[in-house]
Amino acid sequence: FDPTQPGYDTQAIIEKDKAHHVHPWQVFDVFRDEGALPIVKGEGSYIFDSEGRKYFDAVGGLWCNNIGLGRKEMAEAIAAQAYQLSYASPFVDLTNIPAAELAAKLASLAPATLNHVFFTCGGSTAVDTAFRMIHYYQNCRGKHAKKHIISRINSYHGTTYASMSIGGKPGDHPPEFDFISDTIHHLSYPNYYRCAAEGMSESEFVDTLVQEFEDKIEELGGADNVAAFFAEPIMGAGGVIVAPEGYLKRMHAVCKANDILYVSDEVVTAFGRLGHWFASEDEFGIVPDMITSAKGLTSGYQPLGALLFSDEIWDVLNAENSGRCFAHGFTYSGHPVACAAALKNIEIMEREQLLENVKEVGPYFEQQLKTLEDLPIVGQVRGRKFMVCVEYVADKKTKALFPEELDIGKRVSNNADELGLITRAIVHLNVMSPPLTMNKDEVDFIVATLRQAIEATIAELRDEGHFQG
Ligand code: PLP
Repeated sequence: FDPTQPGYDTQAIIEKDKAHHVHPWQVFDVFRDEGALPIVKGEGSYIFDSEGRKYFDAVGGLWCNNIGLGRKEMAEAIAAQAYQLSYASPFVDLTNIPAAELAAKLASLAPATLNHVFFTCGGSTAVDTAFRMIHYYQNCRGKHAKKHIISRINSYHGTTYASMSIGGKPGDHPPEFDFISDTIHHLSYPNYYRCAAEGMSESEFVDTLVQEFEDKIEELGGADNVAAFFAEPIMGAGGVIVAPEGYLKRMHAVCKANDILYVSDEVVTAFGRLGHWFASEDEFGIVPDMITSAKGLTSGYQPLGALLFSDEIWDVLNAENSGRCFAHGFTYSGHPVACAAALKNIEIMEREQLLENVKEVGPYFEQQLKTLEDLPIVGQVRGRKFMVCVEYVADKKTKALFPEELDIGKRVSNNADELGLITRAIVHLNVMSPPLTMNKDEVDFIVATLRQAIEATIAELRDEGHFQG
């Protein structure tokens, strides 16, 4: 697949892709005309398209490229494991060395008593596994009425039937799809910029969110009917929402007071994005009962997810003489090649001190990106360390958004593409989660390039009469 070789035909690839490859979140009418851009090579933070153009990928793939692309030692570790043992059944009485080593390693990195690991194929299946294990656990304890699951509007937890139902992004819940709606409920999301009432302080806003949680438990007939609460420590796809100080701790306290399991979805925030192996305790001071993870676990070199859960849950599942079987699992649970990739990925992060790099460069990234707020369509720059986002508004005072059909985030990201910078557009946002290797020069490049792209977009909007400011 080398586009520099004679006979390589980019257009033929695009046509095959259009005819046969159905993409995630495909917008049929747009894709039919435009197709997708073939990416042919990756090196560190850079990707190259089939025409040889080079881009700095500030999205890190899809929040997952933590150590950078094209690492030879990753390729070698994966190849060596594939050669030695490319597959072994994980069911019941067989295991493999990378899976056992990785489970022990994750237990050593995870907070408190989260010592047990169930491997999955990615983030959605980790959330799905949590969902099933929650009911299993509650039934094992004799708490058969504990069925209800509570999460938040605008959360994203994956794309299986259960994980998408737990997620709360309105755009991901179009009427043509069905969802579990009788036992899954969504609270308000902790977006102080948009959702707090006029003049309300951050702590008053938190009070209202906590009250809403307590009211919801009441409305569902009390804590005896509520099984678990799901939350990303920082909401990712829902717009990089960093909750006001104290929110997560207080929501966690409500769970503890009501015997409700707290599931921290760290598919994005774990493995260094916020400068820690796991962010729940180290960044936010809470110890969840379960953590779901994926993405940065292998830096995207292999598909792999993991559900970590506590000794307390394990003790119930593992009760002696219960005769029970946890009838759940995937052909590829504990896949040896994926687990070998994760072990090498973690080794590289440790050796190169990438978590320390995030702690050092992250605040600079936040600070420099914040300077974009002087631009007339930038409403807010937010996020933490290597997980950030820019929100565009038509009016800074009223925070009014541009009409959705203007696709403002996409316009800016298209202009940034032209300048060699990839950002992810989500309606009126541009989201970034760069590789953890990023240095301060690369931060300067991102900020200067994004400024240029936003300025070009403002000029277009003025020319078209969409913006007068
Ligand atoms: N949970 C969160 C917080 C995510 O951001 C994602 C993916 O973006 C998922 C779950 C689903 O992970 P996957 O796409 O690997 O199934």
